[in-house]
Amino acid sequence: MRSFSIHVGRLFGVEVRLHLTFLILPLFVFWTEYNANHTANGPRDLALVGIVLACVAAHEIAHMLVARRAGLIPKGVILLPLSGVTVFDESHAEPQQSGAAVWQRDVRIALTGPLVNLAFAALAAGVMFATVPGVKLWEWPWLQPSNLPRSLVWANLYLAGLNLLPAYPLDGGRVLRAYFARSIDPAAATRRAVSISHAIAMILMVAGLFSNAWLTMVGVIIFSAAQLEERAVIFQSVLDNVRLEEVMLTDFATLSPADTLEDALEKAVHSLQDDFPVVRGSDMVGVISRQGILEALRVEGNGYVQAVMNKIFEVSARQESLASAFRKLTSRNLSIIPVVEDQRLVGIVTLQNLMHSMALLAESRKLRRDESNS
Ligand SMILES: [Zn+2]
Repeated sequence: MRSFSIHVGRLFGVEVRLHLTFLILPLFVFWTEYNANHTANGPRDLALVGIVLACVAAHEIAHMLVARRAGLIPKGVILLPLSGVTVFDESHAEPQQSGAAVWQRDVRIALTGPLVNLAFAALAAGVMFATVPGVKLWEWPWLQPSNLPRSLVWANLYLAGLNLLPAYPLDGGRVLRAYFARSIDPAAATRRAVSISHAIAMILMVAGLFSNAWLTMVGVIIFSAAQLEERAVIFQSVLDNVRLEEVMLTDFATLSPADTLEDALEKAVHSLQDDFPVVRGSDMVGVISRQGILEALRVEGNGYVQAVMNKIFEVSARQESLASAFRKLTSRNLSIIPVVEDQRLVGIVTLQNLMHSMALLAESRKLRRDESNS
C-alpha cells in the first residue's frame, strides 16, 4: 500500500495515506480556473481541494467504521480524489469466504459511504437555505472556488453519484462484485468487476477528451484504483490457494542436537539457510538460527546445539495454505516453520523463502491470466 501514496496521519488507530493523484488535484483546479477566468485565486482553490478531501475522508471513515463493526480489521486507508481504498490487515484476514452473510456485509459497507455523502449534502443545503437568502444552488458551475458553500453541497453529491458507478473499486462496483460473488469464487468475482471497471474508465477517459477534462481525470483515477485492488486480490489468492508443499524448501541442511556449535557454524557457512531444523534420528527436536549459533559462541564459547536451540516451535502440514504459514510466522515472530508429515520432517518454510515465492507466484499467475485473456 506504500506505492504512490504518502503517510498523513492516523485516525481511529488506522493509518491514513494520501494517494499522489491528490497532489495533482490543486494543479488541476488552478488550471481549469485559469482557463475559465484567466485568473486563479490560490487560497480559494486550495479551500476547494480541502473540501473535496474532507468529503472523501468522511466517506471513507464511514466505510471503515461499518467494516470494523462487521469484524474486519482495517490497517490503512489510501485517500484518492474520488474515493478511498481501505486496506485490511492481511495477517489476520480469514480466507476469502463467500455466502449470504459475506455479500450482504460487503453491500452494507459499500453503500454506507455514498449514503453519508448524501446526508452531508442534504445537511449543507439545508443550512444554506436556512441562513443565506436567495441561494442559487443550481447555478453552473456547481463546483467552483468562488462559491465554497455551494461547492460543499455539490462535492458531496458528486462523490455519492460517482461512487455509485458500477466501476470497481468504487462502491457501486463493490456492490456488483458482491453480486457476482454469490455465484462464483471471490477472486473471479473481483476479476470480472475489474474488467467492467476498466471498460468504464476507458469510456470516461475518452469522453473527457471531447467534453469535460474532469471526466478524463475520473477515468484515470478509477483505472489506477482498480489496478491497486487487483494486485491485492492476486496476492490474497496466492496466499489462500497455494499449499506449503508447492513452495517449501526440500533441499535443506539440518543439525543434530549433539553437534557442537563450531560444527554447526561450519555447516551454516556452507549453506544459504539462516535457520536450521534440529533433528534427532527422524524426529524434529528444535530450531536454531545462524545468528543464535554465533551469539552463543560469542557469549558462552563452544557448547552443544542441544543447549542453545529453540525447543518451542510451530510445525505445519504440507496441505496448509501460505496464509496460515504466514500468520504463524508473523504472529509469533518465528523465522522458520518445519513442514512435517507423519512426524517426519519433509521440508522447511522460512519468511525469506515465503516472500520470495509469493512474489514469484503472483507474477506467474498474472502472466498466465494475461495469456488466457489474449
Ligand atoms: Zn466508498
